[in-house]
Amino acid sequence: MTASTRNTILVAGSANLDFVVRAAHVPAPGETVLGREFSTFPGGKGANQAVACARAGDAPTQMLLALGDDPHATPLEASLCAAGVAMHIVRARDVATGTAFVCLADDAENAITVAPGANNALRGEDLPDLDAIGYLLLQLETPIDTVVAFAQKARAQGTKVILNAAPARALTAALLDALDVLIINEGELAAITGVQDRIAEALTHLKVPCVIVTLGARGCCARSLRADGGGEFHLQTAYRVKALDTTAAGDTFCGAFTAALSRADALPQAMQSASAAAAIACTRLGAQSSIPTKTEVDDFLRAHAAASNATDDLHELAVYCAIPR
Ligand code: ADP
Repeated sequence: MTASTRNTILVAGSANLDFVVRAAHVPAPGETVLGREFSTFPGGKGANQAVACARAGDAPTQMLLALGDDPHATPLEASLCAAGVAMHIVRARDVATGTAFVCLADDAENAITVAPGANNALRGEDLPDLDAIGYLLLQLETPIDTVVAFAQKARAQGTKVILNAAPARALTAALLDALDVLIINEGELAAITGVQDRIAEALTHLKVPCVIVTLGARGCCARSLRADGGGEFHLQTAYRVKALDTTAAGDTFCGAFTAALSRADALPQAMQSASAAAAIACTRLGAQSSIPTKTEVDDFLRAHAAASNATDDLHELAVYCAIPR
């Protein structure tokens, strides 16, 4: 099969059941906070990103995940199934399905502790056949050796590899060499490169054809390599919304971005539609429950056409990123 007929996206990664409690603020170390409502939501970076790809509606989406043989797995499978994601499930025996404990504060800040459980059972040899897979989307909530093995196998078979390096871990040259696109948030960029604050400079430290840093309510900045070896920066400001819960904003961005690339959008268009999808997700509670459909994103883009990349906002973002003139 040639690359152009590989229209399917495969997401390989984590699935967690999120236990979410709302509270006035996130507890400081040693502090106990009396919270309010409690809910469970299907989450995990991998599963969130698979749902975001599928809801973007452009490409058949598959997910490789590992689940325990326990009741926590049921809502995770149901959510992926409802979004139209075809699953390759590794069933880990005597290990709990992944869980995450989320404190969600009234200012939309959150603090999260993950118990990976079954996610740690995913191994390189679990990767399914890649014949129809155009893009493989990975994160770092599964063992790093597994992620490297997946990336290298995909690269060898002509599948494009996108890594969302979250949560931040040291990235080896072997992993970076296998990537086409790296997506990270501001904290992860600083942790991985050791460069604080100087975003444009930090991006140039990462030898990947395209690196995107997401900057929360500021927007995002990409550095892509030109054919002559030089670098080019692209900026996209965030859409102004009233954020209720920013959980899965980054995951929504990654999934929507991958779906956009799979329909052959250019980088700036992919950054724009991913930003719109992520902004909508910020206005809703939960992880997978907050991810918009293609129709919702298209309507949002039409309604906010004038608000995207306004000159003053772009200038402010360029200054924040310290983009060389
Ligand atoms: P992560 O969730 O991985 O920490 P970010 O916080 O950088 O990632 O958010 C990812 C993207 O989501 C941003 O680049 C932006 O497009 C969008 N986003 C995040 N927070 C907001 C917000 N408060 N308002 C609008 N868009 C947001």
